[in-house]
Amino acid sequence: MIVIVGAGLAGLSTAAHLARPYRICERDHEAGGLCRSYEMKGFTFDMTGHLLHFRQAEIKALVEGLLEGRLERHVRRSFIYSHRTYTEYPFQVNTYGLPPEVVRDCLLGFIATLAKPSGEAAKEPSFKAWILDNLGEGIARHFMVPFNEKLWQVPLDELTSDWVSWLIPKPDIKDVINGALGIKDKAFGYNPTFLYPKRGGIDALPKAFLPRVPDIQYGTELVELDTQRRRATVRTGQNGSRVLEYEKLVSTIPIPELVKRCTDVPRDLREAAEGLRCVSVYSVNLGVARERVTDMHWIYFPEPDYPFYRAGFPMNFSPGLGPSGCSSLYVEISHQPTEALASDDVLKRVRGGLERAGIFTAKDELVAADVRDIRYAYVLFDRHRARALPAILQELERRGIHSIGRYGRWEHTSMEDAIGQGKQLAEQLNRQGDPAQSGPRPAAAAGRAGANP
Ligand SMILES: Cc1cc2nc3c(=O)[nH]c(=O)nc-3n(C[C@H](O)[C@H](O)[C@H](O)COP(=O)(O)OP(=O)(O)OC[C@H]3O[C@@H](n4cnc5c(N)ncnc54)[C@H](O)[C@@H]3O)c2cc1C
Repeated sequence: MIVIVGAGLAGLSTAAHLARPYRICERDHEAGGLCRSYEMKGFTFDMTGHLLHFRQAEIKALVEGLLEGRLERHVRRSFIYSHRTYTEYPFQVNTYGLPPEVVRDCLLGFIATLAKPSGEAAKEPSFKAWILDNLGEGIARHFMVPFNEKLWQVPLDELTSDWVSWLIPKPDIKDVINGALGIKDKAFGYNPTFLYPKRGGIDALPKAFLPRVPDIQYGTELVELDTQRRRATVRTGQNGSRVLEYEKLVSTIPIPELVKRCTDVPRDLREAAEGLRCVSVYSVNLGVARERVTDMHWIYFPEPDYPFYRAGFPMNFSPGLGPSGCSSLYVEISHQPTEALASDDVLKRVRGGLERAGIFTAKDELVAADVRDIRYAYVLFDRHRARALPAILQELERRGIHSIGRYGRWEHTSMEDAIGQGKQLAEQLNRQGDPAQSGPRPAAAAGRAGANP
């Protein structure tokens, strides 16, 4: 049997595509993991903003099939607020409107990067060096460095740059100059448009998987793994526990949590997993008794005067997510995993920042407010990760454990990737269990395969 740990999108997609018997264990009492929504005082909030961007046609078609007729396409309205000015995202090709000396710094810095002989760039640059080499000193100083230090909570020379190429568009000189002059002739970035469910929040996506994944065991937490004997101990309820024997285990939980639960792995593997770093996020959902506090979809905040790095406005892309006459917001603040602020403190900081940015007025009445702490939010791409991760994943696979998903692969990836990884792994496991190679397939599993997307 295959045991799947976690019913987030990676676990759900694995189960939905498996044509072999499996059991899926989920610690919480509902599926979806980070991709979930909840109701509060007439508002529907996502855990934090979750918008669908696709790079893989196959996964886009899969999601569109699951949510047939229930998705809406939006042209992104995302901005950066700095120097008391809104400029369009991405910053590097949209400096028009900023103070002239800022625009000049950005242009001169970018032009200087073009004059550098290509051989001069470091082979494996830090994130900071990548920014300076590719975007220049001005764009670094006025946006990229302060924004990313706020998000990642570490100096950027501690981070590697192997993950940035698809997320951070590298413009050519014409685009940078057009952007400084306010000339727009194309869309930029990995997400110029996005999809979002018309109703019900992002929850619609994991829910659409459920008819294909009927047997999830909720309230079932993996607590111990004997990787030699392939036995997983799960806690059920207050005092109950059970041992599941498995042939393969698919884990979608954060790698450090998984390795901590393995009773028989070598010390160096344990230490390598403990050394993986991440940042946490206070995800703050707000409902305010004023219509359309802005018409933007989301805004990035690079400056230290604002404690959050991003705020989004869900009712601007799905008006049914709150009562009429109101607006809803999600606001995200990165923090060290060791820090734990009281919710009231977080709310006070958020409110102050929103007022300073002119999004809230002092008179605005908050009708809903909720703070949740996402312990594992953004994994840090540091040198330890680059060295240690391949060996950790390889050793786990040798022990029959496939670790996938955003925190199972310890990477900066999206809902699309979690779904794609689950599908790909299930297909691999199906091939390994093919009757031509390993005997007859159970009738129940074959039936489930027919129902899969
Ligand atoms: C702030 C933020 C904003 C984001 N915005 C977007 C966005 O706009 N668009 C986008 O595409 N992606 C976004 N993402 C990424 C997206 O949330 C993830 O890529 C995706 O949801 C990951 O799914 P997963 O299944 O890999 O992990 P998870 O969703 O973390 O699922 C893991 C599951 O395992 C369960 N679990 C944990 N421990 C145990 C245990 N011991 N035993 C049993 N079960 C356990 C958890 O309860 C959970 O259900 C965002 C992420 C963050 C942090």
